[in-house]
Amino acid sequence: MKYTWRITLTLVLLVVNFIIFSQLNLEKYIIQVIVVNLANVCIGWIIGFQLDKYIHSRKEFGLTQKTLLDYAFALESVPIGIGITNDKGQFEYVNKSHQNLYGYSAEELLNMTWRQCYSRDNLRKLETSIPPLLKDGKWKGETIGIRKDGSTFPQEIHLSIIEGTNKVICVVRDISEQQQYLANIKYVAEHDVLTNLPNRRKLLVDLSENKKGSVDTSILYIDLDRFKMVNDTLGHKYGDELLVMVAKRLLSIQNEYGRVYHLGGDEFIVLIQNGHHDYIENMAIELISLFKEPYLIFGKNVMITASIGICRYSEDTTNYDELIKLADTAMLHAKMDGKNTYKFFDNELKIRLERESIIEHALRKAIANHEFFIHYQPKWNLVDSSLVGFEALIRWKNPSLGMVSPAEFIPIAEDTGLITDIGNWIIDHVLCQMSKWRSKGLPLVKVSVNVSQRQFKDNKLVSYIEKCLGDHRIDAELLEIEITESLIADFNLIIPQLHALRDRGVGISIDDFGTGYSSLNFINDLPIDTLKIDQSFIRGLVDNEKNSLLVKAIIDIGNTLNLTIVAEGIETEEQLTKLVELNCTLGQGYLLGKPLGVLEVESSYLNRASSSF
Ligand code: C2E
Ligand code: MG
Ligand code: MG
Repeated sequence: MKYTWRITLTLVLLVVNFIIFSQLNLEKYIIQVIVVNLANVCIGWIIGFQLDKYIHSRKEFGLTQKTLLDYAFALESVPIGIGITNDKGQFEYVNKSHQNLYGYSAEELLNMTWRQCYSRDNLRKLETSIPPLLKDGKWKGETIGIRKDGSTFPQEIHLSIIEGTNKVICVVRDISEQQQYLANIKYVAEHDVLTNLPNRRKLLVDLSENKKGSVDTSILYIDLDRFKMVNDTLGHKYGDELLVMVAKRLLSIQNEYGRVYHLGGDEFIVLIQNGHHDYIENMAIELISLFKEPYLIFGKNVMITASIGICRYSEDTTNYDELIKLADTAMLHAKMDGKNTYKFFDNELKIRLERESIIEHALRKAIANHEFFIHYQPKWNLVDSSLVGFEALIRWKNPSLGMVSPAEFIPIAEDTGLITDIGNWIIDHVLCQMSKWRSKGLPLVKVSVNVSQRQFKDNKLVSYIEKCLGDHRIDAELLEIEITESLIADFNLIIPQLHALRDRGVGISIDDFGTGYSSLNFINDLPIDTLKIDQSFIRGLVDNEKNSLLVKAIIDIGNTLNLTIVAEGIETEEQLTKLVELNCTLGQGYLLGKPLGVLEVESSYLNRASSSF
């Protein structure tokens, strides 16, 4: 506060007093004059003080008014709704954004309470959650607001009590855009880009929801049959389009109980809630029938079928996390059953899987633990009864599992890739055994080794066999490999390797012939020497006319193509006689000699001057 008026008035009064008293000649009353003068100066000072104070407060008021106007402008300009309610909840102030948010004018809002901005449900939720939090003087939350026109919008609210009053400042923000943005991100994360169907992530989210509520859930795991062939022969463009069309057909059966998901690749899932067994079976039948009609893709008709595996929560497992895995297994079962069909997971399958997993685990350590050994089954010339060779058959004795049949563990070794190491061990071991026989001065006969398709995969089999032949100094002519016809699926990979082996003198034999789907043309094109007629045909040879005709046909074809024919699994004299009658040259089977260990092979066959059955 300045002294302007105090000083001015006091000085003016002093001057005026001086002039007046000097005119009046009042020397006699000097004391009175001084008193009056002082009184006037005091009055001047007091009036000046009042004037200074008034001017100062006018200035202050002006400044405050300006600040308040600035604040008010700011409140009106922010894009966030701000309202102030009184102790009855009635609005006393609403800014422009608040009016815009709710679609009411300021007058209308000032006649409303905040409660009128929410539906009954949301109001109930708000009223139960706000009071305890208002104790702190502040509350923050999300809810849905209602506009004047009845439409709703998601909002974030911040409430704070004005200190010392019951008035509440409500700050409201429309979060529709933010929610839409988050929803978009969530959608992209939970849907397959190609088919737009919910993906594995979404399936896991939905499954965990079901898990929370212990909802009865079934999974139908759909895998397209031979989809890879579509990709390989027609190209990925066709493959992708096919997946899109399959997704559309699958969606046509989606209903309130069943939801379709795309796991990726050619795998889809239908998740069914609270469906009983018959309903699910009908759904599977319906799904299979969805694939009956061909798909018209870029002007080409493409046929595809599907295999479906079904797993039901509570019936098959009480572990939600296992559902997909078990349905996948049941699907593989459907594939093994000829494809284009469905299979329910069953307990037998579960027990088999558990055993498979134990076997797989034990197999991994079997070579290092020296658990494998080889038995040799003699092969005979059926015409002159002479020994022509042996088939090497692997045997596995595990300390806890005991003897495990190769029919059981070889497929597991193939699936897990362990067959490469096991197969290599067999080749090396057999050739090493032959070199030991030679060192002992025993005669060497041809030995056949069974080889799985997987062993051809990395293109190293030929060089490995060559190396072993060299290491053990065994003639390639004394080695034969047996491959099953149904396994020769990948022509381009396997046939050049068969040629390479044959060029080096290794014999090639088709094992279990007749069980696959080889055409005669296919056999003609293969670089092979021998056909082994599968033991299932020999079993029915005597009683079953059809079987004997088939065996005769195979022998005739073999002879025409200049192939050696071996009959597998000869168990009876009648079978043997019949095979000789049909001109089958070679044979093996329990009747003629079971697979034996090394020592027995040596004593029963190799140490004899001549062996005959
Ligand atoms: P495979 O190659 O067809 O072998 C013939 C199977 O028939 C052998 O069973 C043999 O013991 C059995 N067998 C021989 N004569 C008779 C008979 O008169 N009656 C009956 N009922 N069976 C007879 P094993 O040794 O159990 O082998 C089963 C299959 O396991 C083999 O069929 C072959 O596919 C596979 N395997 C065996 N050893 C090996 C191997 O070293 N490597 C590979 N990759 N697979 C092998
Ligand atoms: Mg064999
Ligand atoms: Mg066989």
